[in-house]
This record gives sequence, C-alpha cells and structure tokens, in this order.
Amino acid sequence: MKLRVPCMQCFQEQGHPSDELMSVELRDDGLLNITCQNGHATVTAIQEQKYELLFELAVMALLDGYPREAATGMAASLERFYEFAIRTLCAKRGIDDSAFIAAWKLVANQSERQFGVFIFAYMLEAGTPPPTIDEAKPTHIAGQDWKNRPWKEFRNSVVHKGYMPSVSEAMAYGELVFNHIKELTIWLSENCSEALNKVAFSRVAVAHNEAAGRLISTMSIPTLLSRTREGFPARTFMQAVEELKQYKPRMHHP
Ligand SMILES: [Zn+2]
Repeated sequence: MKLRVPCMQCFQEQGHPSDELMSVELRDDGLLNITCQNGHATVTAIQEQKYELLFELAVMALLDGYPREAATGMAASLERFYEFAIRTLCAKRGIDDSAFIAAWKLVANQSERQFGVFIFAYMLEAGTPPPTIDEAKPTHIAGQDWKNRPWKEFRNSVVHKGYMPSVSEAMAYGELVFNHIKELTIWLSENCSEALNKVAFSRVAVAHNEAAGRLISTMSIPTLLSRTREGFPARTFMQAVEELKQYKPRMHHP
C-alpha cells in the first residue's frame, strides 16, 4: 500500500502544506522515507500501530474483492494486537522496553506461545482471564458450514490450508476481530492509559534513531481501529467500513 503524504520541510519553509503529495510505500516499520521535488529528504513516522495498519489493509482487501487475503490479514492483525497489549502491560509494571524486546525474541516465532503470554499478562492485571474469540461460533452466515465450528478452525483453515472464504464469512470474521480488539483497547485505555501512550509513541523514538540529521515528523492516518478517533468506543464494524470507503481514496494510493 502507498500513502499520499506532503513534504514536511516544504510545509515548514512555506508555512502551509505543499500542493505536491508524494506517493510513498508503507514499510514494515511504519517509517516513510520521503524526498520531495525540492530535494528535501525527510522521515515521517506513522503513529498508527502495526495491528491497526494490518487490519486496515485487510479490510481494503475485502473491499477490493479478496476475502481470503482479508481474513489472513485480520488474523495477523490480532496477533500483533496481542503483542501490543503485552508490551503495554509490561510497561505498566515498569519493565524497560529493552527487556520486553529480549523476552519477546523467545516467543517471536510461535503465536501459540504469544497467546499464552497474553492470557496470563492480562490476568495479572485484571484478576480474571481475558475475553477470547477462539471458541466463539459464527451465528449468521448463510450457505456455509462454519456455523457448527469455532472461529479458531476457520482461522486455521484460511491461514494454513488455503481455505477460500466467502465475502460474508470474511466480513463476519472481521467484525468478530474488530469487536474483540476494540473491547480490549477500551480496557487498556481505562486501566493502563499512561503505559499505552508510552508504547504507542515508541515508533517516534525509532524514527529519531533512523533520521540521521533529517527532519522528522509524525503523521496520523485514520484507521478503523484508531482509539484516538472520535467515536471509537461506539463505532460498529459496519460503520467503520463505510467510513473507510469515504477516506480510502484520499489517503491511499493503489
Ligand atoms: Zn520539500
């Protein structure tokens, strides 16, 4: 995916945003290296988290007619959300981020381990196990046999067995993941807001290391799962998808 972004150095020098928007490919680390037509080389850090961007890409894939790619992306988004939640819960305990990174290396290649860590990290904070979606079952998908099987099997079939879901199945799975992440994000905001902000801004710190003297700026793009967007707690999945249809042409470049 490419994003349309302005040059922040032109903005600074001219006092207003430049008319020229550059199309820059989104990288895994969320940092955009930009060189404008005036030769300014700058770095822009996307404030949104990895799980948000993955979920956004997944829903765009769904809108573009690729339900299998969408479901795979939604599953990846949820795994990265659990990582984000664990990192936040560690930060709340005063654990240094470098210690978190060292520990994460030990579980980085196995998502089942990561899920286990999430369950107990959540319980240390809340005193109860977290809500989970693995054993939930689809309730309203016509023409498919998933009604009797849990979502965990759906996810594994898509990710590991090449199962090709229908658009309505991917939509229902998206709604499930969206509501689950939303519920947990609200819980994190209410219980760990300081740690949450600290972890959320860690990308900017990485940008400072990478910038090597270049101008650094941060940029926020709307995503379906942005907790800082107005109306986040009340917005339904279908409402969020409708809003994405509106802002997609302005923000994203195929
Ligand atoms: Zn410029």
